[in-house]
Amino acid sequence: MAENKIPISDQPLVMKFGGTSVGSATAISQTVDIITTHHAQYPQLVIVASAMNGITNLLLSCARNAAEGNWKEYTQGISAVESKHSDTISALALSDSRRQALTADIQSIIKQLRNYCASIETMGEVTARGLDAIASLGERMNVRQISALLEEMGFSSRVVEADEIIVTDAAYQNARPLRKQTLEHTRTILEPLLKTGVIPIVTGFIGATEKGVTTTLGRGGSDYSASILGDCLHAQAVWTWTDVDGVMTADPRIVPDARVIDHLTFDEVSEMAYFGAKVLHPKTMRPLIESNIPLWVKNTFNPDHPGTCISNQASQKVGKITCVTAIQDVSLITVRGKGMLGVPGVAARTFSAVADKNASVLMISQSSSEQSICFVIPSADQAGVITSLEKELAYELERGDIDAVHATPDVVIVTGIGAGMRNTPGVSAKVFSAIGAKDINIIAIAQGSSEYSISLVVDKKDADATVRQIHTEVIINGQK
Ligand code: ADP
Ligand code: ASP
Ligand code: MG
Repeated sequence: MAENKIPISDQPLVMKFGGTSVGSATAISQTVDIITTHHAQYPQLVIVASAMNGITNLLLSCARNAAEGNWKEYTQGISAVESKHSDTISALALSDSRRQALTADIQSIIKQLRNYCASIETMGEVTARGLDAIASLGERMNVRQISALLEEMGFSSRVVEADEIIVTDAAYQNARPLRKQTLEHTRTILEPLLKTGVIPIVTGFIGATEKGVTTTLGRGGSDYSASILGDCLHAQAVWTWTDVDGVMTADPRIVPDARVIDHLTFDEVSEMAYFGAKVLHPKTMRPLIESNIPLWVKNTFNPDHPGTCISNQASQKVGKITCVTAIQDVSLITVRGKGMLGVPGVAARTFSAVADKNASVLMISQSSSEQSICFVIPSADQAGVITSLEKELAYELERGDIDAVHATPDVVIVTGIGAGMRNTPGVSAKVFSAIGAKDINIIAIAQGSSEYSISLVVDKKDADATVRQIHTEVIINGQK
């Protein structure tokens, strides 16, 4: 009888496990099961792991409380971090000696956390660099837990701290990777491990400057770490394991009947992530596009589900919106005035005043009459941007050429996305009639120049209803 052999891959595969996938001893065991199950078929397996869920938030709150001199709060925070890990270690199926060695390792990181917080308290402030040093500790602890369990199960693995590999600029909290240096480190550090069958367990989220100072790639950045490594290793694919069956037609917490999408393009997912879908870090797709390395999103807790495949392959759904997203906590800024008509440079000065405050503009809409420019920024930047605009446009405001610089807080951007919308008339009309049917007031509209998306600004109170209405009427009923 012919043997039914699964082909063994000769290319690396990168698997990333998110916070909930490694958020408890049970979840870590499930993750380790997935790793060991796939290792035979993918002997060159690189694992990228996040911190246990909730830990990065706790670490950052410890740092902020230390800066405020809130001793009680930050010591309680340290205890919470410590007990989450010690409870996990107690519940992992480890031999006594391995448990002791792991406990000692984690304790030395907790000691580092105590020292960092004590220094921050003394200084009375915490820098972005300090926040990165502290935030990185969650991933450092977790890779040790995963590696210990893998070793216990007889697999050879190695903890790899990504500050040895991913070289970035010094933009702390949102660092950009430097590909050439990262590629070199990948070759010298990861490739030899893979050639000898060792499974590297790499900290997600973290990088380091050329001088070796720890940086982070932005919140949720472990997805990005995985795609950076996938690109540098010429991996056959990157699989991100999370707590849902794949990328869905909407956030399942807002739309309970959201469906898993089996295939999406890199452009569609970049647009989704940019417009608020938390499922992947917005930069994740960048390193994979040129090399066309497919990215799969899969569920750690339902590993037999095929998940979502993201690649360069064009979407088949002509004329369709595939998913709907929302960005919360944003403000609409309007610069309005009849005297703006035809005055060159007002738009440029407006946006340079915004850039001076380092605020990112999420959406722009200009009326054709040129009497107003409106744009959306994160609410946290609202006060600074208004002050900066009033200063920049003081002359026009005084002359009455510009009537007002106005902020509408508590708005939400709802975006319908789909590569199939491109060159297809009537898609926007479907969106507007769906919203109109619910009497929801649309404050502003913009269509992305890529024509992959259409965005609406609505009041915060209407956000969920708008998302659900587009989902039901345009995505679900629109497919019929
Ligand atoms: P991880 O820790 O695994 O990286 P995240 O919490 O960062 O997981 O992202 C997964 C979560 O993203 C899901 O639990 C889901 O609630 C949320 N989410 C928001 N929008 C979507 C979407 N369109 N598709 C799938 N998940 C989404
Ligand atoms: N632990 C980091 C965060 O919470 C990175 C990640 O989970 O991807 O932001
Ligand atoms: Mg995430």
